[in-house]
Amino acid sequence: MDKHYGNLQKIRNGRRTFSITPHIPGGFTTPETLEKIAAVARKYNGAIKITSGQRIMITNLKQEDLMTIWQELGMEPAIKSPYSVKNVEMCPAGFCKRSKYNTIGIGMKISRKFHGAEMPNRTKIGVSGCRGACGSVYAKDVGVIADVTGFIVTAGGSAGYFPRLADIIAKDITEQEAFELVERILNFYKSTAEFGEKLGPFIDRIGLDNFKNAVLGAS
Ligand code: SF4
Repeated sequence: MDKHYGNLQKIRNGRRTFSITPHIPGGFTTPETLEKIAAVARKYNGAIKITSGQRIMITNLKQEDLMTIWQELGMEPAIKSPYSVKNVEMCPAGFCKRSKYNTIGIGMKISRKFHGAEMPNRTKIGVSGCRGACGSVYAKDVGVIADVTGFIVTAGGSAGYFPRLADIIAKDITEQEAFELVERILNFYKSTAEFGEKLGPFIDRIGLDNFKNAVLGAS
């Protein structure tokens, strides 16, 4: 890992400030981690921002401090390349009264296996414990949703410049089938899409039926 990892945020009067975003899988953290983040923010005059990606960004940092800050945090950067699985966002699932299944388990499994994996473009994954789909799962490139009849897997969602609602690729499948389908979707996207192509536009270019045939064919 590059211990200097940081994003240039601002250049003001020749002064460059950087941000860092430590990896916090699924947005679940501990008092000890929060204390470490608070300590470096206080020590290095950082500003703390809760991000939409269920992470904590520390910004307003000096480049020369970044290496020491990473050492003091003892954490990994959340994003090492924009062309990768940037994050796996999870709803509270088992902690929520509306959940149909505790999807934190499959969410963490997906995060452990695919977080940081190289992709043609930035890729976000959302996991939620009921069809309420908190965390905007239908706006994520890949989504996993638990329902009373089984799991739903979606693909191609996006917010931002070119918003696109995700397509449902499969429903009423098991947790294991959902995990394997996520893997096939990511593998097919990685091996077939053009560099820089987001998953949604890739699905639109080749056609939803062709995409489904490719990722469901082996099931
Ligand atoms: S998606 Fe459902 S289970 Fe998850 S937080 Fe929202 S309401 Fe609760």
